[in-house]
Amino acid sequence: MSDEKFDIPEELSSATLPTLLTAESKIRFRCYKGISCFNDCCRKADITLAPYDVLRLQRRLGMNSEEFLKAHTVPFQMERDGVPGIKLRTDDDGACLLLDGDNGCSVYEDRPSVCRYYPLGLLTMRNKDEYEAKQQYSLIQESHCKGHDEDREITVADYREEQGVEEYDELNREWYELILKKRSGGPGVGKPNEMSLQLFFMASFNFDMFRKFVLSDNFKKTYDLPQQTYDELAQSEEALIKFGYRLMRQVLFGEMTIPEQKDAWDRRVAERKEVWEARTRAEIEARNAQTEEQMREETLGKGGCDTGGCSDN
Ligand code: SF4
Ligand code: SF4
Repeated sequence: MSDEKFDIPEELSSATLPTLLTAESKIRFRCYKGISCFNDCCRKADITLAPYDVLRLQRRLGMNSEEFLKAHTVPFQMERDGVPGIKLRTDDDGACLLLDGDNGCSVYEDRPSVCRYYPLGLLTMRNKDEYEAKQQYSLIQESHCKGHDEDREITVADYREEQGVEEYDELNREWYELILKKRSGGPGVGKPNEMSLQLFFMASFNFDMFRKFVLSDNFKKTYDLPQQTYDELAQSEEALIKFGYRLMRQVLFGEMTIPEQKDAWDRRVAERKEVWEARTRAEIEARNAQTEEQMREETLGKGGCDTGGCSDN
């Protein structure tokens, strides 16, 4: 292992650091239908989903984003500032709902990245002196998995190709980098507000809602983008995913890559002012009503209602 210093993903930072593998490293492993442990890994599944996993699965299952999220995922908090993530839903015993009994994975051609990589773990890491993150790998060795006893050596690069992960990494890489940046940014990055976290969830997993959001009049009034970009976002979920990463970088880290309309700031100030004024008016009215009510009660009290001689009017 090199002596480079990395920002270690949170889930590993407190555990023993695994041996890091590179694309050239060799592993001994083979998995095939008929192996004695076939599907054991899917019977205890803990599968975190990235945006392109969600897209592939919802297409495969013929569902829209809402339907897929509701039927096949459970939410969880990815890190301490509440950045939201999702995992594949399992049954009460922990078996993946997409497992088709002894036939194996029912969505094999569209299985998520974590399932493809297994028994490798994908680690997105960044040298403390470098801006660019890089991918490394770790070997997960679980006693139930007999693939490690098989007589086949394969490089990590060849295993990645065999499992078809490149397409997934291509579309998920920036998302892993966003999370890494959030985790390793320190206090300077700050805790995202509720609206930023909602945007993160929508852009990462709920593509139908995100599409409506970026094609809305309000969005177009705020951001100065060519019609061609909007046409692409209307037609392609892949374009939507990539655009979501740009928007999240802008909202979470202030990296301005999406130009704003010239009057967007003035309009936001005016809108805020309107909201502020409306809220102030509402507060004053509520306070006035409360004061009136108090005065009325005091007046009625002084009038001695128990004499039976007073009324509300
Ligand atoms: S998606 Fe398929 S490969 Fe992944 S855990 Fe579920 S059944 Fe197994
Ligand atoms: S060899 Fe490992 S990955 Fe393959 S089916 Fe068995 S437990 Fe799952």
